[in-house]
Amino acid sequence: MTDHQESTRTRSLYPQFAPLTNEWEGRQFSEIKSDAGTELVESLSERILQDAANERATDIHFDTGAENICLRFRIDGRLHDTRLFDKDIGSRLMGHFKALGQIDPIPLTGPADGRAQVTVNDRQLNLRISCVPGAAGEKMAIRLLDLEKVVLRLSDLGMKTEQREAIENWMREMPGMLLVAGATGSGKTTTLYSLIHELKLLSHNVVTVEDPVEYLIDGITQMQVSERPHFPFHEGVKAMLRLDPDFMLIGETRDADSATATLDAATSGRIVSSTIHSRDTAGTLTSLRSLEQKDHRIAPVLELVVAQRLVRKLCTECRKQEAPSSFEKDWVRSIGLEVPGEVWHATGCDHCRNTGYYGRTGLFEVWRVDSDFKQLILQHTNERDLRKTLHQKGIGPLEREGVEKAVEGITSIEELIGGRVRME
Ligand SMILES: [Zn+2]
Repeated sequence: MTDHQESTRTRSLYPQFAPLTNEWEGRQFSEIKSDAGTELVESLSERILQDAANERATDIHFDTGAENICLRFRIDGRLHDTRLFDKDIGSRLMGHFKALGQIDPIPLTGPADGRAQVTVNDRQLNLRISCVPGAAGEKMAIRLLDLEKVVLRLSDLGMKTEQREAIENWMREMPGMLLVAGATGSGKTTTLYSLIHELKLLSHNVVTVEDPVEYLIDGITQMQVSERPHFPFHEGVKAMLRLDPDFMLIGETRDADSATATLDAATSGRIVSSTIHSRDTAGTLTSLRSLEQKDHRIAPVLELVVAQRLVRKLCTECRKQEAPSSFEKDWVRSIGLEVPGEVWHATGCDHCRNTGYYGRTGLFEVWRVDSDFKQLILQHTNERDLRKTLHQKGIGPLEREGVEKAVEGITSIEELIGGRVRME
């Protein structure tokens, strides 16, 4: 067995992009100098946004190097180089996006961010623009939020019927707190919105506090909070309680203040849901504890935790079914699972730009915090022991579901491991 360590941070240019890559109206980008007109800069930035939208990109990056500025798109969670600009024209493009986001055009001394709303291919996009100074020059990242995105069904997100039913049953039973846990960019917010939509909560008084509002949903009250104009999360939560909601969605439990506000809201007899940064369901307890919440406060209100991770889906045009490699077998054994006879692997074709993957799906753990678990929390059980108990009861690990999906041909074991090691 040979392991090829390969950089997946950046993949080389894919064939379909080649004609667009380094040329603009018959000229190389590197030939377009700083005396190029404002019109050109505007039409170039418009083209960049169009390309990003067409390629399903979630983020646009401008990376300043010693010689050039590289434009990258994040597609299905991975960065792809798309174009290389001469430093002059690249900086002017970044300047254009700064102006859009109302960021001061002078060179940065520290991080800065801004927002803008644009219409691309008849879709309304919210841009969250962040820039930071770097050794070679500024770096810019633009997050694209599609306000008109269709809210997905939980099954479309990859959730199994029994997991969905567990959530639904709880929702009918009692108030308390539902947390969706995961890493940054694991699709937690999408899951929360799908929940609201699918559980037909729209007949209730639903109020949300978000930063930023990521999807607009008819029939619910969405409050946008922000750190800057002195309307922070915990203030938003207080304002929300005055609106007498049945169901509250708090965008993110990110600090001690918002954690306290979320738990307070949950003790008021309402259903409260929020997202929290954690690798799995058991880790949520550690996250809440590190946000200064005591076990005697957590145990009574924490009712349901959904942990999730996003993995890329194999391209159905080119995936192939084979026996797992010995490395894959070892990995499956190391997490205590049975080694399957055959799994699917990524190859690569035109449809998936030679990545072997197209789109993403979720892996889920659904933890109903019943009275036995509440007791474990009150006994200050540590994360490791809690995880062990959860696994014994068949909840998690996320990799178990991942391996099942690798057997079904939805994803690959390589992707579960992290996509950095290619097995041969
Ligand atoms: Zn393919």
